Amino acid sequence: MDLSYIINELGEDREQYHRAVSPPIAQASNFAFDTIADISNVFADEMSGYIYSRGLNPTVDILRKKLAALDGAEESLVFNNGAAATYAGVMANVKAGDHIVSVRDPYSWTKKLFDTILPRYGVHTSYVDGGTIEEWMATTQPNTTFYYLESPNSWTFAIQPIQAITAYAKQKGIVTMIDNSYATPLYQPVISMGIDLAMQTATKYIGGHSDTLGGVLSGSKAMIKKIFDMDYLAIGSGMQPFNAWLMLRSLRTMPVRLERITRTTRTIAAFLKQQPQIESIVYPFDESFDQYELAASQMKPVGGLVTIILQTRQREQIVQFCERLQHFLIAVSWGGHESLVLPKCAGIPAEQFNPEDKWHRSVRLYFGLEEPDYLIRDLEQALRQLT
Ligand SMILES: *Cc1c(COP(=O)(O)O)cnc(C)c1O
Repeated sequence: MDLSYIINELGEDREQYHRAVSPPIAQASNFAFDTIADISNVFADEMSGYIYSRGLNPTVDILRKKLAALDGAEESLVFNNGAAATYAGVMANVKAGDHIVSVRDPYSWTKKLFDTILPRYGVHTSYVDGGTIEEWMATTQPNTTFYYLESPNSWTFAIQPIQAITAYAKQKGIVTMIDNSYATPLYQPVISMGIDLAMQTATKYIGGHSDTLGGVLSGSKAMIKKIFDMDYLAIGSGMQPFNAWLMLRSLRTMPVRLERITRTTRTIAAFLKQQPQIESIVYPFDESFDQYELAASQMKPVGGLVTIILQTRQREQIVQFCERLQHFLIAVSWGGHESLVLPKCAGIPAEQFNPEDKWHRSVRLYFGLEEPDYLIRDLEQALRQLT
């Protein structure tokens, strides 16, 4: 299916809404039926029609169809945020006594689910660095039923060999899920690489304007229906119609924004690499990246995130560098129009700061839609004051 068709046409039926070019927001909690037979049919299968917006909603449906097609999947569900999508995707696929193998240090709330919530129900997780298939094999136990990947993650950009892992998991009957937020299906089509359940936070590149949260799960019809019929309806964290409308609006420009952000990031990464105040840059598409070949083999260059390791060993200097930047907001998250900066040390108590640990000295930069030169001039002035 053409990307242009998916983004501009798929799922939109203007005859239903006076040929308005932009779809309406079906801001309704429930839907009326002509006959009892009709409502009975939807009671029997809530995924077959509109009855109550905790289940399906027409505005949300347009978004679901487009996101499923972008993932190359049969079906998608959209959630109020990425964490809810992860929660539902994992919960629907494990039971007491099961064992999960996960990549080390997944997104913080995913880690809390594995470390704190699931053990309450007798589900335990082992972590692997995950860069080789051998590690996954060696950590798999007879009761392992679920593999969780996040490739790349959003700070160190650690990568897993997706196809090797899914091929092995299929042999063993293990369900695979990936957090594909960094690359998006446009640059890393994980369903075609054998993944059972593809998750993305829509808060980042899909939303793209730092004004709303969202999450996506894509997979086979059977997988998505299983999640919808139980966990999705029980958790009640499906995306609201207005947020779905904002996401639809943003989706129109997502490929253009990502292209621009990716180009800016490549330009600025090349600049950063030359700066004497910077010890190294961490960027999956730079040859210095320790998994450069694996990155190049399974995703197209993409993204607005670069982590830099400053030369300075002083926490105060790192803090000053970040605070001197005029055009980068100090904030979490990424994927919006605006550039951001976040030093690792912001989350480390000052007395635990270890200057010899390069990650303690790391600063994550996110490049938005500003002109590259505008951002480079700002970085230059802030770096100059470090020497
Ligand atoms: C932000 C983020 C999430 C969580 O998404 P929310 O929409 O904030 O719940 C999950 N994974 C990654 C990689 C993220 O960056």
